[in-house]
Amino acid sequence: MIIQMQAGVGKSDPRVAAVVEKAKQYRLNPLVHSEQGTHVGVVEIHLKDGDMKTSALSEHIFVALDGVENVRRVTRPKVTLSANGMRDGKHIKLSPSTLIGAGLPCQIVAGPCTVDEKTVGPIVKGLVTEYGITAIRGGGWKPRSSPYSFPGYGERGIRLLLNAAGHEGIGTVFTEVMESQHITAVARIKQEVGYTGTVVPWVGARTGNPMLLSELGKQYEFPVMLKNSISAKGVDDLFERAERVLAGPLYWNDDGTLDEKRSMVSGNDNIILCLRGTEKTDPKSSYRFRPNHDWAETLRARSWAPIAIDPSHSAGTMENDLVLKNIRAALQHDIDMLIVEGGYPAKGFGGTGFRGLCDAEQSFPLERFGEILNLVSEHNRAFKKQ
Ligand code: PEP
Ligand code: MN
Repeated sequence: MIIQMQAGVGKSDPRVAAVVEKAKQYRLNPLVHSEQGTHVGVVEIHLKDGDMKTSALSEHIFVALDGVENVRRVTRPKVTLSANGMRDGKHIKLSPSTLIGAGLPCQIVAGPCTVDEKTVGPIVKGLVTEYGITAIRGGGWKPRSSPYSFPGYGERGIRLLLNAAGHEGIGTVFTEVMESQHITAVARIKQEVGYTGTVVPWVGARTGNPMLLSELGKQYEFPVMLKNSISAKGVDDLFERAERVLAGPLYWNDDGTLDEKRSMVSGNDNIILCLRGTEKTDPKSSYRFRPNHDWAETLRARSWAPIAIDPSHSAGTMENDLVLKNIRAALQHDIDMLIVEGGYPAKGFGGTGFRGLCDAEQSFPLERFGEILNLVSEHNRAFKKQ
């Protein structure tokens, strides 16, 4: 970032000192250049990366300072995923005893698409007692393609989910948030039911609205999972989503200056990137979406964020064991987390035979979870993670 001072502002002007001070406050490295022509003298302050990257900061921090003529960016305004000097991979705490990230075992997160009263208890109980799975997923709000499809029980669903998780001593609960109010609703219900584990909100393939992503940047106490959008053409889609969470919300004063007190210097970097498939190009494919597992390689090369794969939504059906085949394919890559939809209780697991209200056709049966556990153990051995 280059800050050009107004003509007539000399090198030793206190207004230059103020810019330098501000840059240091933001852990940048300011270098003052002055050029004295025959006509006029110009001072420029070049802001180099220090502990903080210029790409991670808004130029509006400097625009309004006294004596500043112009602020020019020479680096894209991006908190790139590799900006924090954690190129070896960031570890994220799912619970006090479970971390995910580079070099650590791949963890399984499992549970229903939407939560309902009949099945949530037996599913959660089955996953933990039969298979030792201690991170679950479940939804209160679902963006459905059809307005006639079941959209989730909303807050009631979240309450059921957190109650069941608390009851079974589950350490981590993943749930989708579609708008900013859902974040506060989840936090409130968590308090009300006294759930002490970690709740990881996620942004789904259909709902990456910028306000919601910025709002998630405000949260420090929990990680955030971002799924790629259905129309994504490559990993930049995920990076753009992540960028807003990393930056957090910025606020402007009435006079057009950045409200530095309210704005975040940086947002939440506890981000998990999730590959869930993209629009399919082959209409005859048995898959519901085109699996994009191979993006894991690019994500690993270009970012430090843990990588998850959701094999359920791209498969879209359990017919011909497609979800299992898709899990096998996903595990060809060195991934940090597998998030699987499933667990509707079958007979023998206290089940009622009740069919899930959303995405039931792709739900992986509880009694077969051992097959997933075996594949994940193999993956962890292959990638020397345990
Ligand atoms: C889900 O996980 O239940 C879901 C709706 O996912 P996606 O946003 O990837 O479609
Ligand atoms: Mn689903």
